[in-house]
Amino acid sequence: MRCKECDVNIENQRNGKSKRAGLCAKCGRKARLSEYFRKYYIANRDAVLAKNRQGARDNRERVIELRRRRAALKPKVVREPKACVECGTQVIRAERCRKCYVRHRYATNLDYRARRLASTRRWMQKKRAQELAVRPAETGDMAAS
Ligand SMILES: [Zn+2]
Ligand SMILES: [Zn+2]
Repeated sequence: MRCKECDVNIENQRNGKSKRAGLCAKCGRKARLSEYFRKYYIANRDAVLAKNRQGARDNRERVIELRRRRAALKPKVVREPKACVECGTQVIRAERCRKCYVRHRYATNLDYRARRLASTRRWMQKKRAQELAVRPAETGDMAAS
């Protein structure tokens, strides 16, 4: 008979919880502990997270230092430069550049188009109203129309 985890021979181990689960004493203990912590975490999730957050606040400098060190160890991700599928402008992640994205969305999404048109109309009305308010004499012909 062998441990399911590490394949060590458990023939001569005493017939305890671990052996009955098909594990050696070491793997059995590890499995029971991780199960215990999992249940504990589920039952006390909010308290555990609150404690972690408090700990992070109390040790702010240390947390920043550890994060910096971990980031330095991590291999840098080199991103292939991408180009907008429509105009070829270099983009970071998106398929299209900002300009082409808006144009594309405008052409394919009716809701978006309606919203944009409405907001443009509101903006033009507001602008016209402001012009009339600022220069009533000069825009007299417009006010009459
Ligand atoms: Zn084992
Ligand atoms: Zn583009």
